[in-house]
Amino acid sequence: MTRWQQQLAEGFSNSAALLEYLGLDPSLADIRAEQSFATRVPKHFADLMTSSIDDPLLRQVWAQGAENFQAPGYSDDPLQEQQAAAPGLLHKYQSRVLLILRGGCAINCRYCFRRAFPYAELTLTQRDMQASLDYIASHPEVNEVILSGGDPLMADDRAIAGLLEQLEAIAHLRRIRIHTRLPVVIPDRLTDELLARLTQSRLKPVLVLHSNHAQEISPVLRERLQPYVQQMPILNQSVLLAGVNDDVDTLSALSEALFDADIRPYYLFLLDRVNGAAHFEVDEREARALYESLQSRLPGFLVPKLAREIPDRASKTLVV
Ligand SMILES: *Cc1c(COP(=O)(O)O)cnc(C)c1O
Ligand code: SF4
Repeated sequence: MTRWQQQLAEGFSNSAALLEYLGLDPSLADIRAEQSFATRVPKHFADLMTSSIDDPLLRQVWAQGAENFQAPGYSDDPLQEQQAAAPGLLHKYQSRVLLILRGGCAINCRYCFRRAFPYAELTLTQRDMQASLDYIASHPEVNEVILSGGDPLMADDRAIAGLLEQLEAIAHLRRIRIHTRLPVVIPDRLTDELLARLTQSRLKPVLVLHSNHAQEISPVLRERLQPYVQQMPILNQSVLLAGVNDDVDTLSALSEALFDADIRPYYLFLLDRVNGAAHFEVDEREARALYESLQSRLPGFLVPKLAREIPDRASKTLVV
């Protein structure tokens, strides 16, 4: 087992234990919420939290009673993603496909729009993968493959290298993009092997991280990212979350921290209306107002695009 896999195995798997670790009242953890979506938090991420129940990192991950509330307009599949081009393959936007490499994640974010997906722990079989590769090979308009999940970096470096080799053989592909939260929650996932394999590829790599608060950009993450930032663009996407980052000071601190770590802000998404996440919603009017102050506060290159995903659209929808 490598270091990151060790840390994956040692993470918190229930909210009561996490609260207790932080010196908080473990009885606040809600069993029903936890049964509908398991708690999963690596120790590195827990160590970036403060001992407050309102801590912005803690709020993203602990199972609380508010999740049991059935809010109108919320569903289990808000993006209607369960209609795939091939098992594990989404082709909604012309030039790029999303390949679900692994169903699981190192961390379970309570606001995740995939929290209710049946494929939670899915690993694609060789046959499913072949169907996806055949699909991509027969669609010359696709020039970029986005590895997504779950979290694609749950796959080990050998599996990723194997997949890359198959993708490199498809002549019309130009880029490989990896959407992952794993380096933020376990920085040791940024191995030398992964970097070496990505840099030797004919496909240009792009790494898109997911973090929501400056506290997540730890010194260890910055250090592990260093060799990567010299080789490929590193972007970040965030979700606008009530009680986590829904004020202009927090959002500008996040952008500044990202810049210091050589990560460029890419998207700031409005919440997807998935069951169990209504307490995270920031309404669109408030979001626009916040965004305007953010634009006046930061240089343009540190302002992420405010967007939301609307099913059946040909791209993300900008909120302006
Ligand atoms: C978000 C998403 C993409 C990538 O969109 P970009 O705007 O290129 O970042 C691609 N495919 C699907 C299905 C998506 O949901
Ligand atoms: S890491 Fe991403 S896919 Fe995984 S639970 Fe969090 S938001 Fe969802």
